[in-house]
Amino acid sequence: MRSEPGLIFLLSICARTFIIYGMELDRTCAEYASQKAVELLNIDSPSGFTKKAALWVRDSFASLGFDVCLTNKGAVLVDLGGQKSENGAVLFAAHADTLGAVIAEIKGNGRLRISPVGGLKACNTETENVCIYNRNGDSFEGTIQLINASSHVNKDLDSITRDFNTVEVVLDEDVRSADDVRKLGLEVGDFVCPSPRARITSSGYIKSRYLDDKLSVGILLGIAKYIKDNQISLNRKVYFLITVYEEVGHGGSTSIPSDVREAISVDMGCVGDGLRCTERQASICVKDSGGPYDYDVTDALIKAAVRAKADYVTDVYPFYGSDVEAALRAGYDIKHGLIGSGVYASHGYERSHVDGVWNTMKVIKGYLGI
Ligand SMILES: [Zn+2]
Repeated sequence: MRSEPGLIFLLSICARTFIIYGMELDRTCAEYASQKAVELLNIDSPSGFTKKAALWVRDSFASLGFDVCLTNKGAVLVDLGGQKSENGAVLFAAHADTLGAVIAEIKGNGRLRISPVGGLKACNTETENVCIYNRNGDSFEGTIQLINASSHVNKDLDSITRDFNTVEVVLDEDVRSADDVRKLGLEVGDFVCPSPRARITSSGYIKSRYLDDKLSVGILLGIAKYIKDNQISLNRKVYFLITVYEEVGHGGSTSIPSDVREAISVDMGCVGDGLRCTERQASICVKDSGGPYDYDVTDALIKAAVRAKADYVTDVYPFYGSDVEAALRAGYDIKHGLIGSGVYASHGYERSHVDGVWNTMKVIKGYLGI
């Protein structure tokens, strides 16, 4: 457990705001959740390289006084307590892994061809700074650039299709050959992490890569702190599971406690043409690529949103999968649901808003009846 002076300051603000049991969630706690998300966003953690992020998540929940453990697979399971009840436990799942890449080839000229981890797209990572980690614990800077990127030299710059054969990493080191790169200790398989560039604007917009799904980890931390600050005793057993392989499809396929009957993914809400959600709202997903979510859980989420006076919409996500669907495919006998703060430009330089965080927290609060 580590000490965080900034956190203590925020705790004292929230403690003062929530003296009365069951009081409305204040926007201050959404701001706290967003700030915690930014802290986590600044820890690079593509799927397969998540140890540091998972330890941060574990310590953050532990510092609030909850029972936390790291699973064998590297996820974080938080036991929020609560009474055993007939309808079993509910689990909320978010994920701390992100998109990223690994070195696929060290080219003869010292440039790096990279292979994406998860749904990273070359078109929106071009010109992004990256941090590259070798297996000795060293890190190096570089930039993802189109091959032959100078517009004064390459007349075809506009027409070249951007993919991972036409972009490459240019290392910010004096390297001109594969040998030069290997002398730095870099090798095929080392992780390449595009910069998150996380920031919260004065108008409350949250901009960063990987808001999917670190913003939701912040949301769950905010809920945990709300429970702690108000000394709320839960009338149902509640778990949070922060997975580390969602972006590659199997994050939620294990580590769900046996008493869980309902599992709800807290993951980014889709924003785009044909959908209703904005970055300032909570999104309840009724159907995605994996089919419809459980009718009863979705119904209860909608009723919780109404009860908690959350600004929310229901939407259908055209190209989307979630951890709780991975859990179902793994054979768990659960009812599943999905909510999240609206996120625009997903899997690119994403944008959400503190109000979207707040509304999502309200839905969770309403669902738990706290
Ligand atoms: Zn996600």
